[in-house]
Amino acid sequence: MGFLEYAPAPESRAVLRLRDEYGLFIDGEFRPGSGESFTTISPADESHIATIASASAADVDVAVAAARRAFEKTWSRMSGRDRGKYLFRIARLVQERARELAVAESLDNGKPIKESRDVDVPLVAAWFFYYAGWADKLDYAGLGAAPRPLGVAGQVIPWNFPLLMLAWKIAPALAAGNTVVIKPAETTPLSALIFAEILQQADLPPGVVNIVTGAGSTGAAIVRHPDVDKVAFTGSTAVGREIAKAVAGTEKKLTLELGGKAANIVFDDAPIDQAVEGIVNGIFFNQGHVCCAGSRLLVQESIHDEVVDRLKQRLSTLRLGDPLDKNTDIGAINSREQLDRIRELSRIGEEEGAERWSADCVIPDNGFWFAPTIFTNVQASHRIARDEIFGPVLSVLTFRTPGEAIEKANNTPYGLSAGIWSDKGSRILAVADRLRAGVVWANTFNRFDPSSPFGGYKESGYGREGGRHGLAAYLKSASAGESARRVEAGRAKKGILS
Ligand code: NAP
Ligand code: MG
Repeated sequence: MGFLEYAPAPESRAVLRLRDEYGLFIDGEFRPGSGESFTTISPADESHIATIASASAADVDVAVAAARRAFEKTWSRMSGRDRGKYLFRIARLVQERARELAVAESLDNGKPIKESRDVDVPLVAAWFFYYAGWADKLDYAGLGAAPRPLGVAGQVIPWNFPLLMLAWKIAPALAAGNTVVIKPAETTPLSALIFAEILQQADLPPGVVNIVTGAGSTGAAIVRHPDVDKVAFTGSTAVGREIAKAVAGTEKKLTLELGGKAANIVFDDAPIDQAVEGIVNGIFFNQGHVCCAGSRLLVQESIHDEVVDRLKQRLSTLRLGDPLDKNTDIGAINSREQLDRIRELSRIGEEEGAERWSADCVIPDNGFWFAPTIFTNVQASHRIARDEIFGPVLSVLTFRTPGEAIEKANNTPYGLSAGIWSDKGSRILAVADRLRAGVVWANTFNRFDPSSPFGGYKESGYGREGGRHGLAAYLKSASAGESARRVEAGRAKKGILS
């Protein structure tokens, strides 16, 4: 490998108290599922982790009924202040069990422990802390006085940030007074099941959150359930489309967070060292399994060779291997299926005439791995410049003028995120203004904060998660009559005659 060899520094698995088998978490307790159980494995060595129950449509029915009961009897009647107390408690328990959650996440997903420990799990806690603070302030969310919860939220999440996507979904839903039925991805159910234990520890009233594991059919049963009031989905554009069709013509509210093909634009006046770090973080963070990944590098022609050379040097120092090793930069690809997809698109990239370079790293014998890869000589029409690869693969394109950069950046069916690297603030603002992307990072990339809304344009989906905007997806404005009654009640309390 490189000139520096590192001794192994594995994080201990002793903190994990895994069960051999996990049931469905419904109405506050674990129970068997009536579907056929499945196994979750570690993608780093394909070893068995645990047996997981699978929820049939009948199980989903039971979970939705539990969520409905909890909504009507407890959660929607509780004061925002009390709901907030539960959310604060959950946030603190996540912090208390942070190490265990990080190890579980890296084991089940394949991401480096450095990331699950320093990014995923701290953000999970931050999301619960943030929305805990909103629970008693919904009147100030900009949605009118006394906005009302929607009811039962059906949520389906992907495998790339298993616990963080769960937090993005559950925290605002609960703060707003909704109850939840959520399905984690089939390949990464583990952290959600540990989270279920945390909900028990927090004494969350039964039925407020129900976690049903299973395959796509379990997700479909949630989405189509007639007693679900709101559907929130993160995943592929193809499944998102199917869900939009299933929900069309019903009363259900829908938010979709789908794929992306973000442009990371580097101007010739950018601080090059920082830009190179940002490009690496943009596409190789989490093995590129990131919907907002900076997968298309748009670099100004005059600095193309320098940037590509430095990138190759930097990638040659990244350490690929055991996700639980604290020195690991690049972990495992989440599944064989995803690995096949990355290989196929990379093969097509070469076939279409782009030039492929992969870092020279030792690939472990077992498990699913893909070396960090750069394609140069990429044309805007190539599949690798258009399709979401969702892996550690960067496509490099060039531009000459800011206008051309904007045109190329917007030339995509997606519109989730973008990055701009330049020394000039005025240029950054002018370019950002013309990018059709939900999030634009300037001289940084892949930064997340619970107070900042996140979401896409076009085929990247609709609705926003995070911040005050994220509450809107889980609330409806009170009717005029309801608001008036509230104002009356307030006046009466203060002894003011209307
Ligand atoms: P996916 O198939 O869309 O899966 C996302 C979630 O939806 C999973 O929980 C999945 O269950 C479930 N699901 C599958 N079919 C469903 C259906 N008909 N109705 C309701 N739920 C359903 O995405 P994926 O297979 O994980 O990844 C495929 C591609 O999606 C990736 O290559 C990437 O392009 C994109 N992706 C985007 C994001 C993002 O954050 N925007 C995240 C992940 C993937 P199972 O786990 O059992 O399949
Ligand atoms: Mg797994």
